[in-house]
Amino acid sequence: MKFATKAIHAGQEPDPTTGAIMTPIFQTATYVQEGLGEHKGFEYSRTANPTRKALEACMAALEGGTYGLAFASGMAAESAILGLLNSGDHLVSCDDLYGGTYRIFERVLRRYNVEASYIPAGRNADAYERAIRPNTKLIWLETPTNPLLGIVDIRAIADMAHHHRLLVVVDNTFASPYFQQPLKLGADIVVHSTTKYINGHSDLIGGAIVLNNDEAYESIKFYQNAAGGVPSPFDSWLTLRGIKTLAVRMRQHEENARTVAKFLAEHTRVEKVYFPGLPSHPDHELAKRQMSGFGGMVSFQYKGTYTDIVQLVRRFKVFALAESLGGVESLVCHPASMTHGSIPKEIRESRGLTDTLLRLSVGIEDIEDILGDLEHTLR
Ligand code: PLP
Repeated sequence: MKFATKAIHAGQEPDPTTGAIMTPIFQTATYVQEGLGEHKGFEYSRTANPTRKALEACMAALEGGTYGLAFASGMAAESAILGLLNSGDHLVSCDDLYGGTYRIFERVLRRYNVEASYIPAGRNADAYERAIRPNTKLIWLETPTNPLLGIVDIRAIADMAHHHRLLVVVDNTFASPYFQQPLKLGADIVVHSTTKYINGHSDLIGGAIVLNNDEAYESIKFYQNAAGGVPSPFDSWLTLRGIKTLAVRMRQHEENARTVAKFLAEHTRVEKVYFPGLPSHPDHELAKRQMSGFGGMVSFQYKGTYTDIVQLVRRFKVFALAESLGGVESLVCHPASMTHGSIPKEIRESRGLTDTLLRLSVGIEDIEDILGDLEHTLR
């Protein structure tokens, strides 16, 4: 089955009792058992639920992995992966990454004596290798990165990491499996905030993990049940419904984002555009190698001051000023004060995440309306 077909069908057989084509919302906490230890594979919905199971199978199929696990948020999924670590362990991460991921590394893991080292964007596998310590257990990558759209070489880093028996995790939220499948590039674990492109309609919070490694799967599945950060049956169902249009949505997001990036690159009020699809992007060739498209996210530096930005964001009419991304509607975000506000200012600015950076989640509205809004706003 090809991607768009899997998105509609994987994990979803017609309901055997009624023939319903849509997977039912199994809104139940528990399951009646025939006798002790005699049941139909479901005992309690924190442990397993049929609607969630369909979502997990669909996610696994889309990422080309054996196992899928769904969570109540992207951060719950991340926590379950980080549950593989023990006190005294170390991880190496790219330095441009979602602020909430940085926050859990620095403000939660540190309390358990787990340390993270950060590698600046644009560095190759050698830089990651130099950061490895005797207690390093995993490498955490986000590509394209949030919010500067840097590209990290998954295959080169995975090859190096496996030499050192380390697990490689890739946050694939920005690309979605439609444009990038990290397991095929050698990654061990893929994580998503399904809140974003996977669900695609900005109406729920969710997360997912896909992997092939049996041992890591058992351990993460154990954590999922033990810690309990699972999605509700209704959110699992909504996510499955959103996924059905993932392929068509991603194509349109990307087409619109390419046009927006080109428009911004030629705009006199724009200092710099970050979009891996632009030939001027430092890792454009790498992006072409490991992705089949560049996604729908575009960031840019405005030529002006923070005070100008405060005025400017009020002028948008099509783009809504909001956190999050990946929904059908266009959003604009000011990472320094919103999604990445939890990163201290000096660290943020040393990574290029300044007060005049804006991040666009380019939606699938008519491109003329999107460009018209940018034209009107960037004056
Ligand atoms: N990873 C990335 C790249 C994100 O952008 C986000 C949220 O913005 C997350 C993870 C966390 O996901 P959630 O907000 O669903 O917990």
